[in-house]
Amino acid sequence: MRPSLLDPLFAPITSLEGVGPKVAALIEKVVPADLGERRARVGDLLFTLPHQVIDRRNRPGIAGAAQGAIVTLELRIDRHQPPPRGNRSVPYRVFAHDDTGEIALTFFHAHAAYLEKQMPVGEHVVVSGRMEWFNGRPSMVHPDHIAPLSGADSLPLVEPVYPLTAGLSGKVLRRVIGQAVERIPSLPDWLDAAVARKQGFPSFPDALRKLHDPQAPLDVSPEASAWRRLAYDEFLAGQLSLALVRANVKRLSGRPLTGDGKIEDAIRKALPYSLTGSQEFALAEINADLAEPERMLRLLQGDVGSGKTVVALLAMARAVEAGGQAALMAPTEILARQHLATIAPLAERAGLKAAILTGREKGRDRSSTLAGLADGSIDIVVGTHALFQEQVVFRDLVLAVVDEQHRFGVHQRLAITAKGDAPDMLVMTATPIPRTLVLTAFGDMDVSRLTEKPAGRQPIKTVTLPLERMDQLVGRISEAIADGQKVYWICPLVEDSDEIKVTSAEERFATLKHEFGDVVGLVHGRMKGAEKDEAMRAFKEGETRILVATTVIEVGVDVPDATIIVIEHAERFGLAQLHQLRGRVGRGAKASSCVLLYKDPLGETAKRRLSVMRETEDGFVISEEDLKLRGEGELLGTRQSGTPGFQVARIEFHADLLEVARDDARLILSRDPDLKSERGQALRLLLYLFGRDEAVRLLRAG
Ligand code: ADP
Ligand code: MG
Repeated sequence: MRPSLLDPLFAPITSLEGVGPKVAALIEKVVPADLGERRARVGDLLFTLPHQVIDRRNRPGIAGAAQGAIVTLELRIDRHQPPPRGNRSVPYRVFAHDDTGEIALTFFHAHAAYLEKQMPVGEHVVVSGRMEWFNGRPSMVHPDHIAPLSGADSLPLVEPVYPLTAGLSGKVLRRVIGQAVERIPSLPDWLDAAVARKQGFPSFPDALRKLHDPQAPLDVSPEASAWRRLAYDEFLAGQLSLALVRANVKRLSGRPLTGDGKIEDAIRKALPYSLTGSQEFALAEINADLAEPERMLRLLQGDVGSGKTVVALLAMARAVEAGGQAALMAPTEILARQHLATIAPLAERAGLKAAILTGREKGRDRSSTLAGLADGSIDIVVGTHALFQEQVVFRDLVLAVVDEQHRFGVHQRLAITAKGDAPDMLVMTATPIPRTLVLTAFGDMDVSRLTEKPAGRQPIKTVTLPLERMDQLVGRISEAIADGQKVYWICPLVEDSDEIKVTSAEERFATLKHEFGDVVGLVHGRMKGAEKDEAMRAFKEGETRILVATTVIEVGVDVPDATIIVIEHAERFGLAQLHQLRGRVGRGAKASSCVLLYKDPLGETAKRRLSVMRETEDGFVISEEDLKLRGEGELLGTRQSGTPGFQVARIEFHADLLEVARDDARLILSRDPDLKSERGQALRLLLYLFGRDEAVRLLRAG
């Protein structure tokens, strides 16, 4: 149960004065949390941080105030000059002076009574706003703030500016956040005093106060101590919860898997190539993990085409040598079949039996596979989600490999592990996740990287071409086909509609068929499994030479002699996806090219994405660029928080804190694995504050 100490922060925002359902709905658009089904709370408001400030500390006096500057002036009111009756286009003017000169405060469509009350003649007031000089006369149009001299303290000299959404004024948001700040309870500090001191962190409540009530513009900088403190807290909450999950998984400890290397050798001998240095290295790391009694949780990260599959196969061979079974899960049916096609002949040469299980295996095939898994006569199974089904029982599953992991959720990853007695886990991803994100997403998961590609690969030439000039391409493709090459033609990504996606692919298929005849094939997600297989087979074997496809071929598909990929409406794809798609070519010894067809005019971000694609093939660089471009807010709308999965922490500013937080989390749990100590109790508060309550549930009672 959540400690009641936190109640004020978990109260709905509608408990704040002036926040009805309408304002609440607007506020929910700007808070950084991914609210999902829940409503915004006071704590969400507090994590809505200002992205800049208006500095009102400049008090130069009227004569010294520059055109356009934001200034604060202390004035004596001299007279009011309402507009002539019936002429609303003339503004209401209030004349005032200080020691240096006279100024006109100007109001359009003013309420005379209100202004008279706010600025009685003869009174001293403080006003703040933008200075304007016209023909040597100073004025200020609609000052941002007007306060009597006695109430000048209420005027924010350094005014935080929050992300806004249409219909929600800065004034309203500031007032509401001001109330939220007053509700911050006093909390025991969960940070190690030494860490806090070293980093110069204020306390959590002070950090929030400083960000919402800054005394100097630098106070709200993401690089300043207040924001860094919150970022650290958020990282620490994340690292702690990941470590708790991991500890929970590891508690079900695995068993050592070793073997005599005979099966592995047989497979190596059957390979038409030898492994790259980095494949060897990754395999050695994996085998070392397998040999440990602790469970393996390892991520194998390698750019598209770097050859992850064979590493997985050799690891599975080791599992079988140790007397167990191994499963390889693929995110799509096409990919599962492709994996089986690669693996089965090699496995067979080594005397192993491999089988496939997807949603399509029915009837006798399916029951014989199920029986083989249950009695252990099948050593390696390749499959899709179908592997999670209840009827699937293994005799002894010791290694689960998950391919293209980003397609699977955490639940699914865990579901496969339930099929064995704490099987070792190898997760493969082609998305080159930057190191920092690996840490945030997987915590302490060990990582092996394939850093080199198999020898003999040539760079892929990437060009961009406006859609209107598609004709040019047709000529080029005829030549390529005449020369015996193969072409992927990817149809546009159409948001949210399978229907339209398929139509556009079918239309493109028709026009290309008209142009090139029977050598054109088609594959899309709505086709029956057998039709998809047939399309892939025909393309692989060269009966078709152009394969029109939707993004079903995005991940993993391996037709090494395909040399051209055309991507229509490339501007609609994200960088990661473009990189994945491009990775379908350049997998053999021949030179390949990628043609990005785009529709003019391109937006700024789309332009940048396409030029990144032209400039580099390095998946690592591309994913960092992707992160930056997303960080610039395109995908996250008005949300300020640039780093996916985080509310206040921003990788581009706070990456250094991430590793400190990881080490801190490790240390904490090694001393107090169930967070029972006084500090442990305080850390539980932290987990709640950052929405990591699921981790609290993993703690043993107490
Ligand atoms: P990915 O890492 O994208 O999953 P794959 O495992 O599909 O890559 O491998 C891509 C291609 O490279 C396949 O055709 C595979 O047979 C080939 N390959 C893998 N390792 C090597 C190697 N060491 N030398 C040459 N070719 C290799
Ligand atoms: Mg792959």
